[in-house]
Parts: sequence; structure tokens; C-alpha cells
Amino acid sequence: MKNQNVFIIIISIIVIIIVALTTNFLLRINSANKIYGSDKCVGHDSREGIGLTVMTSYKCKVCGFNNESGSSMTPSMCPLCQKLTSRCPTCGKLIENTGA
Ligand SMILES: [Zn+2]
Ligand SMILES: [Zn+2]
Repeated sequence: MKNQNVFIIIISIIVIIIVALTTNFLLRINSANKIYGSDKCVGHDSREGIGLTVMTSYKCKVCGFNNESGSSMTPSMCPLCQKLTSRCPTCGKLIENTGA
């Protein structure tokens, strides 16, 4: 009986974490949609500058957290937001998935 209670508690915690993460992802995607709209990026790519080791500090426009970038160009959002929203780090617009 005791083991069953522990199991239920663990399951509850896992569910809460999943719900929190999903909400967080959706908030980021919503926020990105509000800031950058649903236009598609046409010309940018995420290639990084070569030979520059200077860390640039920037604030992610989507989630608002401060981040550091090793690229010469300051991205408009953090890597996590880029991944979650599939957006261009340069202009913040949607990157068309070519399925490559
Ligand atoms: Zn772009
Ligand atoms: Zn972010």
C-alpha cells in the first residue's frame, strides 16, 4: 500500500513537470508569434562567424532571459526558443522546414 502511494506521487510529479514544460513551450511559441508574426524567413541562415571568440551578451526577445552568444552577430532569441519555435535567429521569422 505504501509503495502504491509513492508511485502515485511520482506519477503526479512527472505529470506536473510535463504540463509545466508544455505550457512554457506554448508560451514561447505564442510570444514569438506576437513579436515576429507568421512570416517566413527568406534570406538568413544560422551560420556563425568564424574566428570570433568574444562572447556577446543579449536578451532573448521571446522568453526574456539573458544569454551569451559566441557568434559575432547577436541573435534575437536564445537557442532554446529558436528550436522550439523553428525561427531564424537573425530576423526571428519562421524557417521553412525543407525536411533535409
Ligand atoms: Zn532570417
Ligand atoms: Zn528564449
